[in-house]
Amino acid sequence: MLRSVKGLKDILPQQTPQWQHIETVARTLATQYGFSEIRIPIFEFTELYARSIGGTTDIVEKEMYTFLDRDGSSLTLRPEGTAGVVRAVLEHKLLDSPTTRKLFYLGPMFRHERPQAGRYRQFHQFGVEALGIDHPLIDVEVMALLCQFFSSLGLEDLTLHINSIGTLNDREVYIHKLKEFLSPILKTLCGNCQRRHSTNPLRILDCKVPVCQETTQQTPILIDYLSDNSRTHFQAVLDGLSALDIAYTINHRLVRGLDYYSRTTFEITSPHLGAQSTIGAGGRYDSLFQVLHGPSTPAIGFAVGLERVTLLLAEDQTTKKSPLFFVAGFGDTGKPKAFTLLYKIRQAGMRADTDHKGNTLKALLRSADKLGADYSIIVGDNEADSNTAILRNMQTKVQEIVNLEEITQRIQKK
Ligand code: ATP
Ligand code: MG
Repeated sequence: MLRSVKGLKDILPQQTPQWQHIETVARTLATQYGFSEIRIPIFEFTELYARSIGGTTDIVEKEMYTFLDRDGSSLTLRPEGTAGVVRAVLEHKLLDSPTTRKLFYLGPMFRHERPQAGRYRQFHQFGVEALGIDHPLIDVEVMALLCQFFSSLGLEDLTLHINSIGTLNDREVYIHKLKEFLSPILKTLCGNCQRRHSTNPLRILDCKVPVCQETTQQTPILIDYLSDNSRTHFQAVLDGLSALDIAYTINHRLVRGLDYYSRTTFEITSPHLGAQSTIGAGGRYDSLFQVLHGPSTPAIGFAVGLERVTLLLAEDQTTKKSPLFFVAGFGDTGKPKAFTLLYKIRQAGMRADTDHKGNTLKALLRSADKLGADYSIIVGDNEADSNTAILRNMQTKVQEIVNLEEITQRIQKK
């Protein structure tokens, strides 16, 4: 038997109602907050990601699905959404209008990681990007949307972690101090972190290896090195969150480790997900546009991992569907009449099904039960001759005779 590729997951019919629900909540809320949907391709030139995400990140170092196109150009399956959105915004001049500066997306991302619970090689994200706004209250709006998304889905026990990583200049001084502090104890850190010490020292704060986490508890704290501007911005964000009664925890280890990230960084964690506890994360990326040769444009966004969200939702949280009508036709004239009726009911906008192989009423009603039909509409030869059908409530078993001409109108009220 052929199987799917390692780290990829099918979303089965039993699970799709839950996914549809999550996507509806995402679309509805993002729209309420003034974001418009953008749909970008799932692959781009490799250069876009290499340049924007940064050469020393996990993603670019080892997680990208990169392949050569037939003309030899290097392409990469999108590992995240922001780079592609910024590329599209620049290409289509979306910054020119205030109606296209707040964007959201939903869709699959691809990273070659070690598959485990909550970590897959194809996974889905809901993300938003607010472009061109420097004001601290937009940071608050973005986090409010993220929190409302989770609370609308009924998720509990979540923590909003927040930090400010200042500007590139603020960090220069801090990184110097951090390296100085870590130098004598470098040997105690994991191999990755020993390497990061020279390539991207901020990422050490973010390492998930226990001994590294322990060590970073003692390091100097980034917010002690913020400039006045960054400090004022951070305080305004915290005040804004408090004004909306959004609880947060300041987390000094929360960094995004890339040059173009600046000031606000945040993530939301759940205690119910084991090692993969982060369900959503984001931050400001005020210099990304310039990295991609665009105009200087402050920006902030987040991305939510939807597989992790589904892991937190109760299995049986299915959305209620409209009633299902089972059309049970049998006999030489009943069967064809039932078939056209089935089509009419569907055209009238209702959910209907049948069993073409069922030839007796008993067999057909059994099929109706198996499909979970709410009503059966029975058309045998007698009914066909008198232009009627029997409408049977599958739960109460109460039956009534209905004229075929009126039936779609009658059942529309069910
Ligand atoms: P992690 O620390 O878990 O590797 P990350 O920092 O790589 O996360 P981001 O790039 O910030 O993650 O992506 C935002 C969200 O997307 C994460 O918080 C997570 O919920 C989800 N996510 C990231 N990678 C995966 C994956 N391989 N499988 C499933 N979900 C993922
Ligand atoms: Mg990762």
